[in-house]
Amino acid sequence: MERIGFIGLGIMGLPMAKNLLSAGFPLCVYDLNQSAVDTLVSCGAEACASPADVAAKSDRVVITMLPDSPHVKEVVTGENGILKGCKSGQVIVDMSSIAPMVSRELGALLAEKGVEMIDAPVSGGQEKAEKGTLAIMCGGKENIFESVKGILERIGASVALVGELGAGQITKLVNQMIVGVNIAVIAEGMALAQKAGVDPQKVFAAIRRGLAGSQCMEDKAPRMFEAKYDPGFRINLHIKDLWNVLETSRSLKNSVPLSAQVLEMMVALANDGFETKDHAALGLYYEKLNNVRLTTNN
Ligand code: NAD
Repeated sequence: MERIGFIGLGIMGLPMAKNLLSAGFPLCVYDLNQSAVDTLVSCGAEACASPADVAAKSDRVVITMLPDSPHVKEVVTGENGILKGCKSGQVIVDMSSIAPMVSRELGALLAEKGVEMIDAPVSGGQEKAEKGTLAIMCGGKENIFESVKGILERIGASVALVGELGAGQITKLVNQMIVGVNIAVIAEGMALAQKAGVDPQKVFAAIRRGLAGSQCMEDKAPRMFEAKYDPGFRINLHIKDLWNVLETSRSLKNSVPLSAQVLEMMVALANDGFETKDHAALGLYYEKLNNVRLTTNN
């Protein structure tokens, strides 16, 4: 089987890389965090000295799973970046959630060396990464997508091509807008119920099977009732995604008033020390705003 490169072995990248190893792909890996590299080496991967080294040792495909645009830029264009070690015919699959404009810029730079790029951000957290059941939304050329689809299917339950390079990132931003606004209005509604003397948990039970019900409500409302704010999906990652929404939107002269408002709420939460809590901590924002407790029954 072809040897795959993997760069970025964090909460998501580590289990994704492990799943590729389990599927039988030889892996060569790199991360700034040596202990993550050591973990993968103990599972059978080969450690590399730099992103350039990963690209040089990979047969065709190099996957990146990094925090944000600057990290992906550094890994691709940095002193010992992928561009220094890659060869014509290779494919970079960036699975990080970053700004779509950056995906397109990097795709153009890689194309100068005959290297293709697919943007392939994911939805689903650590648990789905471990189970190999992520939803993967891709952008890029159809024939290149088809050539890497079989690999992505080993880490995701659904793998969809949405459009050209950058379309995967746009899809991810839309996902994050809908999730963020959804959680915020769940907290807003439950806080109103509490203020009005109506038990939020009974409100939840009454409406969850109706039109207002959602996967967000199923996961996040109980967290608010139990003050269970361990991540999950961290506030600081959602802030990063919503900044990317605003930047992308501004560049298109598009308006996103709801996303902008939720970004403000999340920044306020981060300033209150909750940046590493689950985004369901929007419940805490509304508790403070309205001086109510979502955890207290009437
Ligand atoms: P993380 O911070 O846990 O992992 C990122 C890894 O990248 C770290 O191991 C870090 O050492 C490494 N790294 C950073 N800069 C590097 C560099 N220059 N060279 C080599 N390695 C470098 O992040 P994560 O939670 O795994 O998230 C990765 C991406 O997936 C993010 O874009 C995030 O928004 C997205 N995502 C996360 C989740 C989630 O639930 N955590 C869910 C969906 C999507």
